[in-house]
Amino acid sequence: MLELFSLRDKVAVITGASRGLGRPMAKGLAAAGAHTVLVARDAARLHAVRDEIIAAGGQATVLPLDLTDEAAIRDGVRHIAATLGRVDISVNNAGIINWQNVLDSDLADFDRIMATNVKATFIMAQECAAVMQAGQRGGRIINIGSILSTIGRARLHAYCTSKAAIVGLTRSMAAELGRDNITANVIAPGYFETDINTSLTARPGYAEAVSGVTPMERWGRPEELVGTLIYLASAASGFVTGQVIHVDGGIQSSFTFQMAA
Ligand code: NDP
Repeated sequence: MLELFSLRDKVAVITGASRGLGRPMAKGLAAAGAHTVLVARDAARLHAVRDEIIAAGGQATVLPLDLTDEAAIRDGVRHIAATLGRVDISVNNAGIINWQNVLDSDLADFDRIMATNVKATFIMAQECAAVMQAGQRGGRIINIGSILSTIGRARLHAYCTSKAAIVGLTRSMAAELGRDNITANVIAPGYFETDINTSLTARPGYAEAVSGVTPMERWGRPEELVGTLIYLASAASGFVTGQVIHVDGGIQSSFTFQMAA
């Protein structure tokens, strides 16, 4: 039965692998057997993750690049395909956030968020899908959205737009690539304590407020994304495509209203 979840002999490319949610997800892919290609800008941190994977008996390759550089993504994926012979799994996790009021926000900021969160996801997924299609072995595209893929949030219009766009992109890729046995799905995390949230967690009472609107009454632990990731990356999800799976302690499916007694 566990064979269903094995990624043995697969090659997985994961962005944002240097820290945050990407680091445990990369380690999870490697622990499931995939040769894991670690993408982000910070080469030193990527090497540290690779060392941890190798020390645990896994296989990993470091691919430092800036995801706002289209040529770097395309060259990087082609290099991986040429050296490792295949790409089976593309996990597009890197993302950035910025808080701005709608009326004060500027186009440069909007473009910056869209470039990393949407355009890079598109270019990476497109390039990996081309390798998967040529290899005729199927494949898995897993894009990281957010609970803000499906709901709005004040002062986060650019981020919410980007995360909703990821759902549209993923569903369109699922619709077109299904015949090649390439699936495309979104994981939508709730609140996890990483660098992306440091401006929030620094505010007194914020962490408790988030727990208060979460049915499971706590923040997620980054390792808790690994099970869903391996499911979507493996044969276990063979007929699952175009889906958005929330890993959020129940936030998105509920309306939690608390009043002082
Ligand atoms: P972090 O800020 O902790 O990490 C972001 C990652 O993205 C880093 O590895 C960073 O690497 C990489 N990255 C950012 N910009 C670039 C770039 N231009 N080129 C290459 N790599 C880049 O964020 P999280 O780990 O928390 O978030 C990961 C994903 O999960 C994001 O898409 C985020 O929107 C989403 N998410 C997170 C939630 C949370 O609560 N944490 C909730 C919902 C969704 P480096 O700096 O080395 O380049």
